[in-house]
Amino acid sequence: MKRLVNKRQIYLKEYYKRPEVIERRQKYIEEHKEQIEEYKRKYYIENKERITKRNNEYVRENRKRINEYKKRWVRENKDKRKISIKEYESSERGRFVRLKVNHNRRYNKNLEHNFTLEEWNDKITKTGGYCPICKNRFVNEGNGKWKLTIDHNPPVSKVTKGFVYGIENVEPICKSCNQKKGYKEGEVLLK
Ligand SMILES: [Zn+2]
Repeated sequence: MKRLVNKRQIYLKEYYKRPEVIERRQKYIEEHKEQIEEYKRKYYIENKERITKRNNEYVRENRKRINEYKKRWVRENKDKRKISIKEYESSERGRFVRLKVNHNRRYNKNLEHNFTLEEWNDKITKTGGYCPICKNRFVNEGNGKWKLTIDHNPPVSKVTKGFVYGIENVEPICKSCNQKKGYKEGEVLLK
């Protein structure tokens, strides 16, 4: 029985090495990209706890090795790293993170923005590009180059340190209205 299993395993191993099988497999992956992504996403959501636990354990047990690997990678990929940082910063997610962090730098209040890029994008989409204050239309350039900026309610200048802004506390308004509003502290908001 055991020999039979081994034979089968060996056969399968060889089978998956055949060029036509590899090609068929790649074609299948190519044609079912969306289903595969969907499956992976579902799998991750269903097994999130287990995956996180396993990952954390792995990091804990291999911290030294991981740190050494990171250091070596940085040393050997200096240029690549520069490019990837640049790429990240100009990506939609990078801009979104900066949008949250910029206020902290300016006001030094350790504000927290407790909403996701998807929720923010959803708000922008709902405006149809129109600034709710001046009613001018601003077309989104894509890739996170929002023409509409973030308006905080209550204003950043009024809140105490560590205030948490949820998605219900922020509104997309145009840059010019946001700047005007900044000078007059909220007076222009309900025009
Ligand atoms: Zn405006």
